[in-house]
Amino acid sequence: MPPVGYVYDPLYLEHEMPGHPESPARLRAIMSHLEESGVLARLARIEPRDATPEDIGLLHSRELIARVRGAGEGHGAWLDPDTYVAPRSYEAALRAAGGLLAATDAVLDGEVGSAFCLVRPPGHHATPGQAMGFCLFNNVALAAAHALERRGLERVAIVDFDVHHGNGTQDCFYADRRVLYVSTHQYPFYPGSGHWSETGEGAAKGTTVNLPLPRGCGRDEYLRAYGEVAAPLVLRFRPQMLFVSAGFDAHFADPLAQMLLDTRGYYEIASLLKALADELCEGKIVYGLEGGYDQAALAWSARACIDTLLGEPFAEDPLGAGPAVPGPDIDTVLAAVKRAHGLDDG
Ligand SMILES: [Zn+2]
Repeated sequence: MPPVGYVYDPLYLEHEMPGHPESPARLRAIMSHLEESGVLARLARIEPRDATPEDIGLLHSRELIARVRGAGEGHGAWLDPDTYVAPRSYEAALRAAGGLLAATDAVLDGEVGSAFCLVRPPGHHATPGQAMGFCLFNNVALAAAHALERRGLERVAIVDFDVHHGNGTQDCFYADRRVLYVSTHQYPFYPGSGHWSETGEGAAKGTTVNLPLPRGCGRDEYLRAYGEVAAPLVLRFRPQMLFVSAGFDAHFADPLAQMLLDTRGYYEIASLLKALADELCEGKIVYGLEGGYDQAALAWSARACIDTLLGEPFAEDPLGAGPAVPGPDIDTVLAAVKRAHGLDDG
């Protein structure tokens, strides 16, 4: 069996703004945990490359690339109230996107069976023309575009379980029927998009799937959303490769959002995604790190996803199960999503 790959590079730590929640400490926490638990030693390192302007130009405008490069000159700058560009951020962003591209090639070339990319800055809020929401370039979307435009794939799926809606990824592929984009997210919440009625346009109608969930959803609600809606729609689409925008900010310990998912919930979602990839595309799955702002929750949850790729059982984490409170009613929203996408109810 080919190994499970990972991408990491110290340059990812140099994108830094003191006091900002999207900090290098996030990646340090994941790497320390992977080292101490012995998981890292079982993974094959994939050397990230630096994405070129042509790579970034697969989806992003020349103006955006120039703006991010220019903003890093001198002492750095803010592109919006949330999104900073430090002196080394442009280089880090190119290598983050390049990490996803290298992992995609490694999987398609059979060097690894699957991969987890421990990159930052994150990407899923970055639209073709705008950096926002802590994101500069859309790492996972660029990898999907690379697979389609340069590696000859005809259909890929992106599953996004970050607690925020991936508006950037949605924008990149809203009119592209080769990409199935499925997002679960807290709603209403930043960035405001992601209503279930946003389903794609033109020939791509139906290839954007939004599962907007009320605050307070935990493992039961998430597993219903994935089991009843996301999984059947991915099966129906028959992607040749699966990408995951892996944000861990739906964890109950996360300081920025109000969901109640726990580490075991991430393990179960990742197990479901692995089973889909095994059934549809010889297990070809590439994860890219997005958000997640509690360091322990982030480290254990990322490791839980990697454990599913390694075929390992769930490793009990010190944070434990989410609060035992009744979850919100999601029957109505799930029924609306099923109706919007022609899934039979029941
Ligand atoms: Zn997020």
